[in-house]
Amino acid sequence: MRADSKKAEFKHRVRHWAEKLDVKNIWLGVRPMRNKWASCSTNGHLNFNADLLSHDRPVWDYVIVHELLHFSVPNHGKLWKSLMRAHLGDYEAMERRLTAGNASVARGREVG
Ligand SMILES: [Zn+2]
Repeated sequence: MRADSKKAEFKHRVRHWAEKLDVKNIWLGVRPMRNKWASCSTNGHLNFNADLLSHDRPVWDYVIVHELLHFSVPNHGKLWKSLMRAHLGDYEAMERRLTAGNASVARGREVG
């Protein structure tokens, strides 16, 4: 699949989850990032690392839901964990795949 259509598919997936999680008015970007897989800011800017495009769908969902939940839960506390589990099931397994795959790049990179 070409990079452009993969990016379009990724963005479509983000919109899908944003609707499901009732997150409105997001500005969405996919671009190369050095130190993080994704970042979000309080003004609704959501950026994803372009390297995610080479991962598969469960990893996408993990990073997407992780970030979208931060619009309502700013930390990784009990509430955030229970919401992650409610939407994704075994999200920790997805998280491990993200950090295990492509290890030399992934090392030290955080989801945010
Ligand atoms: Zn986070």
